[in-house]
Amino acid sequence: MKIVVCVKQVPDTAAQVVVENGQVSWGDAPLVINPWDEYAVEAALQKAGDHGGSVTVISMGKENETEALKHALAMGCNEAILVSDPALGSSDNVAAARVLAAAIRNVGDVDLAFFGKQAVDSDTGTLPGMVARILGWPALTLVSAISVLSAEAIKVERAIEEGRQVVESKLPVVVSVTKDYGEPRYPSFMGIRKAARAEIPIWDLGQLGIEAPAPVISWPEMMNPPRREVTTEIIAGDSPQDIAAKLADKIMAEKVL
Ligand SMILES: Cc1cc2nc3c(=O)[nH]c(=O)nc-3n(C[C@H](O)[C@H](O)[C@H](O)COP(=O)(O)OP(=O)(O)OC[C@H]3O[C@@H](n4cnc5c(N)ncnc54)[C@H](O)[C@@H]3O)c2cc1C
Repeated sequence: MKIVVCVKQVPDTAAQVVVENGQVSWGDAPLVINPWDEYAVEAALQKAGDHGGSVTVISMGKENETEALKHALAMGCNEAILVSDPALGSSDNVAAARVLAAAIRNVGDVDLAFFGKQAVDSDTGTLPGMVARILGWPALTLVSAISVLSAEAIKVERAIEEGRQVVESKLPVVVSVTKDYGEPRYPSFMGIRKAARAEIPIWDLGQLGIEAPAPVISWPEMMNPPRREVTTEIIAGDSPQDIAAKLADKIMAEKVL
């Protein structure tokens, strides 16, 4: 079984992201694998382990953006590919989806392409569906469990607001994974050493056999959220009941309830 997992490199969620001179900045905070994508890597590794096969991890980013790929290699992926080209500088979702779809095609004979639920920086959650559309494959999104997998078909549970939905599909298929899938494994010591030594090939647009997809969505302006004034008041009282009663009065007076 040939499995691909797509991972994005994003600023650490602990980083303070600000807009400076119209540009987004996260200072010196490290770039890491998108946290949702660790669940996708876990799903890919489990399925390759259960059914035999290889896991190729793909990331589209700048030439030096290999941290997310190395993390996935350290978790156990077999090979990593960075898709990078100067022409992809400010790709929108359509462009990113076209490029990732071309990369998946270029891997060849892929049965399953795993994605995270969404990227924590741009947050659109659209790429899995868009890539599936371009490949002409079904998109099984928000998957929390895979109950059946054979060489031809897959049966999954989708975690949706109203409950769980069981969905069956033929392969090849795109699957986006939620954190209900299960805790991602930690990179092993051997994996970290292997990842540190790994030579990660870079595929540019020429190698993918496509032109730079023209972006259609631009980001003309970015701004920080409006500052909110916050005041803190400590409520004192003779007993927990007294404090709770005063707190309840304040909440009612502020019309919070
Ligand atoms: C420097 C910069 C400039 C940008 N400029 C623009 C712009 O001008 N207009 C605009 O519309 N957008 C712009 N973008 C956003 C860019 O289009 C999105 O980051 C990209 O389309 C993915 O969308 P998303 O991050 O919302 O991913 P989502 O759809 O939320 O991600 C879902 C899943 O797709 C996979 N995935 C997402 N991104 C990648 C990736 N790069 N490589 C591999 N897998 C991935 C992961 O598995 C992820 O969990 C810019 C981004 C950057 C970093």
